[in-house]
Amino acid sequence: MYLYLLALKGSRYTMTMIRNLGFIGWRGMVGSVLLERMQEEGDLDYVEELVLYSTSQAGQPGPELANAQPLLADATDLDSLSTMDVIISCQGGDYTQKIHAPLRSMGWQGYWLDASSTLRMNSDSTIILDPLNQSMIKENLANGKRDFIGGNCTVSLMLMALHGLFKENLVEWITAMTYQAISGGGAQQMRELLIQMGEIHEHARPLLHLRKSSILDIDSRVNEYLNSGALTTSSIGYPLANNLLPWIDIDLDNGTGREEWKGQAETSKILGREDNPIPVDSTCVRVATLRCHSQAFTIALSQDVGIDDLTDIMGQANQWVKVVPNNKQDTLQSLTPVAVSGSMDIAVGRIRKNAFDSKIMTVFTVGDQLLWGAAEPLRRMLGILSEQQAYSDS
Ligand code: NAP
Repeated sequence: MYLYLLALKGSRYTMTMIRNLGFIGWRGMVGSVLLERMQEEGDLDYVEELVLYSTSQAGQPGPELANAQPLLADATDLDSLSTMDVIISCQGGDYTQKIHAPLRSMGWQGYWLDASSTLRMNSDSTIILDPLNQSMIKENLANGKRDFIGGNCTVSLMLMALHGLFKENLVEWITAMTYQAISGGGAQQMRELLIQMGEIHEHARPLLHLRKSSILDIDSRVNEYLNSGALTTSSIGYPLANNLLPWIDIDLDNGTGREEWKGQAETSKILGREDNPIPVDSTCVRVATLRCHSQAFTIALSQDVGIDDLTDIMGQANQWVKVVPNNKQDTLQSLTPVAVSGSMDIAVGRIRKNAFDSKIMTVFTVGDQLLWGAAEPLRRMLGILSEQQAYSDS
């Protein structure tokens, strides 16, 4: 459509330029990681003009980037948005709710790429996780679909980690216990967790530095403070430092949260198994880490496969899975948010058979939810868009 080919002289590759790309939400958690990745990977080289939009800072100078307009555009200006060939939104569901339908009603035919969940389950939308569903993405593109939406971070990380088991059709059902970082709640919540940590330390400090103070006094001082309502909680809503929160996203009024519902719903859609879903049951928990979602899975296998074969199947499924040997030292060194944060690796470890049923296995995985759980599928979709155009124009 509006993309056009640029054959780079002397290059082995045919590169397709995206004429203009509108980017909303670039200063948020997902957006800033995405922008960083696009710069690292040279993705902006095939964007002729980048327009950075803002809901709060329109008219102000934006970051200095190659091909970017110097001033931030107004993210609510439908006329301006409708001139974009591709729009990436990392602004959140409310924004998508407000802008997407009116833009389409104006006859806008561009590609909408989105990190939020608003459009994910629409029949016109494709949930993108190309290492698993590239053929579905390409087929939907060829069929004229124009909404390509990143999956839920926890679901995408689960699918990347268990890719091999799905490929071999080994999964009968899954239960997932999640340990999700606060950056999953956005930039403001991430800042607030650090503020909470500082406030707690400040409160405990006088006793911490008294050599004769008892640990029980310190503990009760901290606990009283956490229950006093004095801690800063304006963004997270509750103390998260020295705590965990076993509920994420809205209450569906049936004993589950929406984050938990997404486990099966999005897995089925990404795998193209909406008519024959693999049961996935989750308990989702927010923990006081800054980045990375960790998950403990119990998986019922369709056949009794040995642990060495299972390890090979999981480790060889895609280039990002890194199997961590199931021993204490390797696990504590490499299967943690601290080890994985900021990397593209999906660490997979604690691979074991259940003690009382050899067709049930357990696995623990850690992945950076801002990368494979959010930014990476979106930036790879930009690449697929230009590649697709290269095929259709040649
Ligand atoms: P976020 O960090 O809260 O950013 C969203 C917007 O908030 C920004 O684009 C910015 O918009 C505004 N903002 C206000 N104060 C800010 C501050 N102090 N720093 C940065 N931005 C600030 O949200 P997000 O976590 O990136 O999530 C965006 C969407 O992606 C959501 O729908 C979320 O559900 C989805 N998602 C998130 C993750 C994750 O791990 N965080 C993973 C997968 C999907 P203006 O510049 O226009 O003011």
